[in-house]
Amino acid sequence: MTLATDTRQSWSQFLEYVKKHCSATAYGNWLAPIKLTDATEDTVTLEVPNIFVKEYLLSNYKKDLCAFFPVDKIGEPSIKFVIAPPTPQKASTPKPTPDSIKPQPTHAPRDYVVDLNPNYIFDNFIEGPSNQFVKSAAWGIAQHPGQSYSPLFIFGGVGLGKTHVLHSVGHHVRKHHPKLKVQCITTEQFINDLVDSLRNKSVDKMKRYYRNEIDVLLIDDIQFLENRLNFEEEISNTIEALINQKKQIIITSDKPPSQLKLSERLTARMEWGLVAHMGVPELETRVAILQYKAQMKGLDIPQNIAFYIAEHIYNNVRQLEGAINKLSAHSRLLNLEITEDMVERALREMFQAPHQEKISVEQILKSVASVFDVRINDLKGSTRTKEIALPRQVAMYLACKLINESLQMLGASFGKTHSTLLHARKSIEQKIQKDDHLRRRVDMVERNIAASAA
Ligand code: ADP
Ligand code: MG
Repeated sequence: MTLATDTRQSWSQFLEYVKKHCSATAYGNWLAPIKLTDATEDTVTLEVPNIFVKEYLLSNYKKDLCAFFPVDKIGEPSIKFVIAPPTPQKASTPKPTPDSIKPQPTHAPRDYVVDLNPNYIFDNFIEGPSNQFVKSAAWGIAQHPGQSYSPLFIFGGVGLGKTHVLHSVGHHVRKHHPKLKVQCITTEQFINDLVDSLRNKSVDKMKRYYRNEIDVLLIDDIQFLENRLNFEEEISNTIEALINQKKQIIITSDKPPSQLKLSERLTARMEWGLVAHMGVPELETRVAILQYKAQMKGLDIPQNIAFYIAEHIYNNVRQLEGAINKLSAHSRLLNLEITEDMVERALREMFQAPHQEKISVEQILKSVASVFDVRINDLKGSTRTKEIALPRQVAMYLACKLINESLQMLGASFGKTHSTLLHARKSIEQKIQKDDHLRRRVDMVERNIAASAA
């Protein structure tokens, strides 16, 4: 790739290049809407329909952009982005339907309605790097339903706030766009309704309702559609009909569209808009969530205790809530002060412990090596420099802690005697009492091991 003298030309070359390297859908969705509005000798100005297009471009093609365009002092491609002014209302007003095929107005049958959880609002949602992207996409949609991405597809693990965000959009739209009809539905519920209406021979009514009367459709947990072939087509058709009318759809799932066992057609539909990942909140975000939830319950949790809990409950926000509920009950009923000790006792079963059975010394060595940035062979060897000796002791300490074997057996796997192991265990036990940094690193190793054994 050579640098074109003319940056305008570089842009067309870049587009040609991307066209060859991505799917036609992705190109149509993300690259085609970008307009080059200005070009000078060393920079171009690109007009993007919204901030997501810019983020998409930079997160997927930064390296390539650097190859095609001049690079500034901090190594960024020299591109100015401007957001296009919103296009006049076009998208939000559905095309008028000729009278002859206009549906008879039906009213939402009661059963179709899944009510929104009143607590799931944007104001109660704590933001952090792991969920910011999803939150801002949802927020954008809540303000201008049907005008940015449809569908928005949110995926991520259990208890990370997908439903919370979904309902938040519903609340916001109902409040600020009262004319728009919002329907929130779990996939299970949709299937049940469909089965019922097939039985009552009212299936046309249901179809009509979903396809013609809804402006914002929120579908929770689409993964339940897997292996339910008969219903997939119905949902596909509904989604398609709504997308064609430029209505807003938001879908949640525990996996990305490509990993769902669904038809290619439905997968393609779901990828059409914006696919956004809801990640596991980082330690600081977990602490903020804990403190917020505690405050809502009138519970005062010291900062160090919040950290302590957040370090031990790390992959599910719902469990953090559970921890707060439990602590609140304990401290009220038993009138106990919240101390690390009390927390340890109250929450012991909730704390995520590694799987004991399957762990091997090799796994421990591997994980220690990666967290402490040393080589596995050095850990197995007998170098006594501090950089190696400490992680080696950590590995021995963890082996004693996590593997249910005699010290002799374990010692043998390290090529050491059982008293060396005993010494290592004591030494690390003492050090992590005093040294927070070391304790966190040891915790991290344990977590890695737990994750790889799970
Ligand atoms: P999911 O649908 O991803 O399984 P939920 O939306 O049901 O998860 O969230 C589980 C619980 O955690 C809910 O009570 C929700 O309010 C809470 N929660 C999740 N993420 C956050 C957050 N970032 N801030 C505040 N509460 C959160
Ligand atoms: Mg959910």
